Amino acid sequence: MVKERVLITGGAGFIGSHLCDRFLREGFQVVAMDNLITGDLRNIEHLFKHPDFEFYNHDVSTFVHVPGDLKYILHFASPASPIDYLKIPIQTLKVGSLGTHNLLGLARAKRARILVASTSEVYGDPLVHPQMEEYYGNVNPIGPRGVYDEAKRFQEAMTMAYHTYHNVETRIVRIFNTYGPRMRLNDGRVLPAFIGQALRGEDLTVFGDGSQTRSFCYIDDQVEGIFRLLMSDYALPVNIGNPDEITIWEFAEEIVKLTGTSQKIICKPLPKDDPKQRRPDISKAKSLLGWEPKVSRSEGLKITYEYFKSLPQDVLYTREH
Ligand code: NAD
Ligand code: UDP
Repeated sequence: MVKERVLITGGAGFIGSHLCDRFLREGFQVVAMDNLITGDLRNIEHLFKHPDFEFYNHDVSTFVHVPGDLKYILHFASPASPIDYLKIPIQTLKVGSLGTHNLLGLARAKRARILVASTSEVYGDPLVHPQMEEYYGNVNPIGPRGVYDEAKRFQEAMTMAYHTYHNVETRIVRIFNTYGPRMRLNDGRVLPAFIGQALRGEDLTVFGDGSQTRSFCYIDDQVEGIFRLLMSDYALPVNIGNPDEITIWEFAEEIVKLTGTSQKIICKPLPKDDPKQRRPDISKAKSLLGWEPKVSRSEGLKITYEYFKSLPQDVLYTREH
């Protein structure tokens, strides 16, 4: 029997690499494409000998060519952490816009179904809580985070246009803060930042007074939600995230407890436009996909901490910022 083929852009990144694992387990042939701008080949090196796995080192903001059939395309290429997209703002805008356009064109040419990775950032600093898909959001287009948020909003608009005008089968997932093994220890996101600080014996840096909230979803739950959405027949955006909301101060306290560090929690200035609260309304995912998160934060954090502890010492001290 001929296996179905799936293209995963951003395949060497955190979420993309877990998607590669999942689709191989499901019996697909997987083509991963990544230019390694924020990704790492170590996330997929265990797949290089797999007979159903191919890797292309390519920037998807330039023309994308993949020989052969494709059943599905998952567009996950994009810097995702605030310090990444502040460092490479133009590439971030390009991959969300030009990259998305290229992949929608490829989906049309191959008659493939495409799922694009959108984000809770389309809601900006939300004035509605929790955030449901009908909320239009509160984004500052010219603020520092605008390069990411607006690229993703454009991505959604372009995806809906291909759906409506070209009859391409499209899916849009709005991903809320997701964590787990293979996050980059130095990517600046709060979980690797706190665990890295604890492991290096540094104080944990809470931005602002720590009263802002986030809701953290474990990677396995996220991948399951994405998989179910792709296989569904629902073309409008769907939130996938864990509604278990926590303040960043309480989160720092949890990491202190988890790691047993004797370091202090200290406050640093709050970055501009940092959203004050974030929690997904997951009613749609529940009713349409029969999905809800299964992994508690305490379980997920334990697994993630073990992963970070197992990394070589030099990774712990590699700083890009
Ligand atoms: P990541 O940085 O680990 O992965 C992104 C991957 O995309 C990297 O491997 C990077 O090298 C690659 N990439 C970036 N630009 C590219 C380009 N022009 N061409 C080819 N490859 C390119 O980040 P992640 O957390 O795995 O995020 C993956 C996707 O999920 C992103 O689209 C992101 O916006 C979305 N997302 C993630 C989260 C989260 O909490 N992790 C939340 C919301 C949305
Ligand atoms: N944050 C923090 N200390 C850090 C890194 C982040 O207090 O060292 C805060 C950040 O200001 C934000 C929250 O943690 O309020 C989540 O930040 P992250 O960059 O992980 O994701 P996002 O803001 O995109 O949700």
